[in-house]
Amino acid sequence: MKYQSIRKQLFETVIKANEVDLIRMSAGNISTRAGEGLVAITPSGVEYRQMKLEDISIVDLEGNLIDGLTPSSETPMHTAIYKNLSEVEGICHTHSSYAITFAMLGEEIPVVNIELMACGAPIPVAPWACPGTDKAGEVTVELFKSHPDLKVVLLRNHGLVSIGKDLDHAFAMAFNAEVGFQAYHQAIMVGKPQPLTETQLAEIKTIYGK
Ligand SMILES: [Zn+2]
Repeated sequence: MKYQSIRKQLFETVIKANEVDLIRMSAGNISTRAGEGLVAITPSGVEYRQMKLEDISIVDLEGNLIDGLTPSSETPMHTAIYKNLSEVEGICHTHSSYAITFAMLGEEIPVVNIELMACGAPIPVAPWACPGTDKAGEVTVELFKSHPDLKVVLLRNHGLVSIGKDLDHAFAMAFNAEVGFQAYHQAIMVGKPQPLTETQLAEIKTIYGK
């Protein structure tokens, strides 16, 4: 089978995403660069429990299918990110529960915990863009381009997108974001969460680097 090692890497990330509830049934999609001008992405509408390695779609940067099943309907957003942000090697898009919750409110999420700090918080909510359209790519790219440290954005009334310097990094950002959002939600229920101060952020950056 062609593209075996990159498909295996993607497959294992999908399994992990299922195990931690980032991706449920066939909602959400994950991709990674697969060599010169190509992307490996989860196929459209396939439940991940039933997915086989050869089902994983290989597309070019225009979204044309090269191998595997029909790619995710949200492929245009992934390819827009790869085309416009050369440093991005992996992308996770999830409909995880707390991401959707905050995506509905349309308010930026402040730096209230270490997890969200790692994602480059404050985390903005992109303007509404219908899933599967080029516009979803445009609004996402614009936010990532204007905030160089940002690794996660919320998609209005939809979910989240994370980017990384490799697939594991993109996965870690999606996971951290969901953990951070859940904790923020719980904090709002019982009180008023206090964002980390500039001094505290500087202290953390001194110890752990950027
Ligand atoms: Zn989606």
